[in-house]
Amino acid sequence: MDKKKKSDYELDKLIDINSFKQILDNFFKATEIPNGLVDNNGKIITQSGWSDACNNFHRKHTDSNKFCVESNISLMESLSKNSISKNECKNGLIDYVAPVIIDNEIIASLFLGQVFNKSPDLNYFISQAEKYNYDKTSYIDAIKKIPIVTDEKMSSLMLCIVHIIDVLVFGSLSKQREDKLEQNLIKTNEQSVELQDILDFSPLGIGWTNKNGEVEYVNHKFTQLFGYTIEDIPTLNVWFKKAFPNEQYRENLILPWNNKVINSYKEKKQPPELEATIRCKNGTNRRALVRLSWVGEKRLSNFSDITNHWKNELRNRSHDNMLEMVAKGVNLKDILHDIIKTIELEDDTSMCSILILDDDGKHLSIGASPSLPTFYNQAIDGVEIGIGVGSCGTAAFLKKRIIVEDIMEHEYWKNYLKLAIKANIKSCWSEPILSSDGQVLGTFAIYHNQISSPKKEDFERISFATNLASIAIENRKVRKELEFRAYFDFLTGLPNRRYFIEQSELEISRKLRYGGSLSLIMFDIDHFKILNDKFGHKMGDLVLQKIAEITRSVLRDIDIIGRIGGEEFAILLPRTDIKEAENIAERLRLEISKGIVKTDKVEITNFTASFGVVLDTKNKTIDELLVSADNALYEAKNSGRNRVCIFNK
Ligand code: GH3
Ligand code: MG
Ligand code: MG
Repeated sequence: MDKKKKSDYELDKLIDINSFKQILDNFFKATEIPNGLVDNNGKIITQSGWSDACNNFHRKHTDSNKFCVESNISLMESLSKNSISKNECKNGLIDYVAPVIIDNEIIASLFLGQVFNKSPDLNYFISQAEKYNYDKTSYIDAIKKIPIVTDEKMSSLMLCIVHIIDVLVFGSLSKQREDKLEQNLIKTNEQSVELQDILDFSPLGIGWTNKNGEVEYVNHKFTQLFGYTIEDIPTLNVWFKKAFPNEQYRENLILPWNNKVINSYKEKKQPPELEATIRCKNGTNRRALVRLSWVGEKRLSNFSDITNHWKNELRNRSHDNMLEMVAKGVNLKDILHDIIKTIELEDDTSMCSILILDDDGKHLSIGASPSLPTFYNQAIDGVEIGIGVGSCGTAAFLKKRIIVEDIMEHEYWKNYLKLAIKANIKSCWSEPILSSDGQVLGTFAIYHNQISSPKKEDFERISFATNLASIAIENRKVRKELEFRAYFDFLTGLPNRRYFIEQSELEISRKLRYGGSLSLIMFDIDHFKILNDKFGHKMGDLVLQKIAEITRSVLRDIDIIGRIGGEEFAILLPRTDIKEAENIAERLRLEISKGIVKTDKVEITNFTASFGVVLDTKNKTIDELLVSADNALYEAKNSGRNRVCIFNK
């Protein structure tokens, strides 16, 4: 068991006990849970509420009082433990105790109770009343008043109060320590050895400058975090230029903040905090929270490294954003652009790109590449993948991460050297983006203007980006496929009935607005059932595909073709009179009758179709047109098949 040593701190000197007692009084009013805070010497600091059952009954009878004492001893023994302890006394009531720990030392103990964790068995307490001769009615009343709180809730309540004490004590201790530090700093212009030792062990980066803006001190942690020693940054201005090399960033964020800091000195106010990305001596970036205080005329800065937290936040946000965009069906390129922006924000020396592998699986096209020059993107767009096609072309081809640290020296870039020089890129690391079933969907690449090799965190960035990009690209594929299935017939690739009608309605309303003629052809394969029966359904499917192919080749781009039933097709012919429509139908009939479907085993020829043609003379709806064309088609079937009939009623 981890025993905590007792502390020199005295709680009543660290927090305002009267105010704190009010908190606990109100806590009792709200929850009816009696509570008490006891210091290390056993002195009661605050106490709220009593349990009548304990005070008026258990403690009044010699026998039951023994159990009360036993319970007290047991609770006191558990005090030295780290965490919350609980004790059920032999009278059936439950007490809780938790230590209040500051700087690894116990400074007080919090007691809550008595409570029940679940509804008490009143028969048991009635029998107790009889046993110890309590007044039954008032004893049971007292038992009923004891709050029923689950073990979990009790733990949360304990933690809640202990945490309030922690916060109060921490605030007060920080203040005391700051005062002490201020005294020390003012006392000595030379840093006292003792102080420097303390500062060097601080988990925060610490530095201070004098009133002339000269850096007088940076601690060990500061150098460890950012790489700079005091010799690297003799003045505040040099520090700003090195830590924030991007001029815009300095102008827009750092200098305005610095002005506020200077004003805070004049106005004797707390200087504002700064959260910023700092360029380290080795060229990497760290995110830091900078807090300042004025100690006399010295400006004391401390730096907390929040890089990991910041990156996680950025990535979580980007991840959520991406999923939201995917769900909303946002354009893929916009989603990929967003992913890249997040990755580039983490390290503003890098330029990233996402290339997408085309459906043919051979060419890469630009998905998003906002930071590389346009001429570079244009040159890459559509490139055929293969070994030696830069980092990305090779990575997509080999399905393997390709790290090129120095483009000038690498064989994969031999054919792209001029382009790389013009774009001023010196290194390129590329990772294939894989789908959930391991297919290459594209590549994600990080470029730099200097020769560079990836570090552990770069690999993390790469895998984060490729995972997100993979979800986005794969989703678009699925979406495209679903859209296709909703509108097109899978077997022939022609618009399905629904889409045919939708398109035709648009065309009909266009005709209503602008005038002109419009015709519709419907055709149906002759004796298709027999063909299926004779050659099998698979062969029937091939015939359907063949007829769709012939239809597509005979018709014009403006015509709308649809497979509107099993072996029934319809064609809407905009700006076409009945004579032209008949000609088209006749040509199609002839081409179909000449069609051949061949496999290794069989050859099918002589399949034919019958046609019905109608001219829209009365501004009919698409349904009405289809009915009329169907009438004509019926006539064609009845009069011998493999022919074209015109609807002329
Ligand atoms: P008719 O000349 O009077 O049109 O005779 P038919 O046999 O073509 O007409 P019927 O309506 O009796 O039969 C249509 C056949 O088309 C029946 C059905 O199995 C077949 N069919 C419908 N859809 C498909 C399909 O997707 N693939 C195949 N292979 N056959 C299909
Ligand atoms: Mg039919
Ligand atoms: Mg038929």
